[in-house]
Amino acid sequence: MLTVMKFGGTSVGSAEALERVAKIILSEPGDKVVVTSAMSGITNFLIGLCEDIPGRREEALKTFEEKHLDVARRLLKDDKEYNAFLEEFRPRMAAFRRLLNDEYAMKDPYYKDNVTSQGERFSSLLLCHELRAVGHNAIAMTSEDCGIRAVGQPLNGSADLGETERAAAINVLPYVARGFIPVVTGFYGVKSDGLPLTFGRGGSDYSAAVMANALNADMLEIWTDVDGFMSADPRIVSAAVKIDEMSYGEAAELAYFGAKILHPRTIEPVRKKHIPLKVRNSFKPQESGTLISQFRRSKNELLRSVAAKTDLSIISICSAEIAYHPEMVTRILAKISENSVPIYSISTSLSTVAFLIHNNDVKATLMKLNELDAADVERIDVTGDVALICCVGDNLLSKCGVSGDIFGAVREAKANVQMISEGASDVSLNFVVPMAKVIDTIKIIHAKFVEEAHKKERM
Ligand code: ASP
Ligand code: MG
Repeated sequence: MLTVMKFGGTSVGSAEALERVAKIILSEPGDKVVVTSAMSGITNFLIGLCEDIPGRREEALKTFEEKHLDVARRLLKDDKEYNAFLEEFRPRMAAFRRLLNDEYAMKDPYYKDNVTSQGERFSSLLLCHELRAVGHNAIAMTSEDCGIRAVGQPLNGSADLGETERAAAINVLPYVARGFIPVVTGFYGVKSDGLPLTFGRGGSDYSAAVMANALNADMLEIWTDVDGFMSADPRIVSAAVKIDEMSYGEAAELAYFGAKILHPRTIEPVRKKHIPLKVRNSFKPQESGTLISQFRRSKNELLRSVAAKTDLSIISICSAEIAYHPEMVTRILAKISENSVPIYSISTSLSTVAFLIHNNDVKATLMKLNELDAADVERIDVTGDVALICCVGDNLLSKCGVSGDIFGAVREAKANVQMISEGASDVSLNFVVPMAKVIDTIKIIHAKFVEEAHKKERM
């Protein structure tokens, strides 16, 4: 049994947290590979460092160094353990310092990837040495050591799963076979030129899923600071409940459209190999968390969870008979994608194509759209400050009349639905309402579909 265990920033954010994590790792039976984020706050700090003037970098570097050394001193009380840590720590620190002073490297478009990948290199070292201090064989491995291969644009990499699997079989599995726990850097992979490329903010979850895929693990565990996926955001709905089990499809939609629990790309690498995934709370290891797998659950409640993506805008492009000129939609899409802006929904009619994007992306998108041929565009309308409500459940679309019932609930919230996407995914029903109606809409949908179903179950 091989488990890949991933720990997030708060789970490794202090000496106490690291001690707790080491206990969790050791209490897990079977073989383990650990993937870790940077200590909490460190990635933001490194992003700031990239933007700082070179003269102030040395000071910041000292702060970074002191923070990690301070935690190491608290963890590794035995001099021998602390010195063994320093032996690995010093060359990493020297390489980091060189990188910050390397004027040639600064010109590289992937420089920020390189600098922000530094946090994980040090948190993994701390966790590895803590595991050794409590008596387990562990080895700190960077993404370079493992051969996690990344491709893509700066700050937005994807893993090459095939290459990574081949490399991990050679570089990682032999350590596991010899009883070591590899502690691997999350967040980034390495391009074909050997330099780092990060997987986007929160990307260590994705790194862990990539490792689980590459190692053909039996289980992926994402250890974070919440209990698991919830039926709604508990800050909005006090009656929200933890979801015990869900399908890959449900988890992927929820992670993408609202719940900030998993990096949205975590599901794909494990879904490909049917590796079950558990989300667990490192502050409450006795709790079971949420299990995500390919199996549908037996209960037949319709709605799993209702989430919202807020601060969005609808951009509607009107043009005569767009429906008869699909190439026009292609041109419009191509323009928008020049800015790599995420599009959360698209809807078309005879003469309009409407897109849903983040409020912050509106200005740049309009500038791009203005470059379109005047013959393609009659008018562009922007409806700002809307939110996408995402209702997720893998039984949702298989039952007749469900959308009618959900929109009935929306009517009770007196919310005007401005855009709908149904059927594009077989596990979700998404629609857009004004920001001012989000909370009421979520509360009513949750009460009608989740709380009612739980009441019935108890009867
Ligand atoms: N440390 C990175 C971040 O803060 C990656 C992660 O935490 O998953 O975005
Ligand atoms: Mg995270």
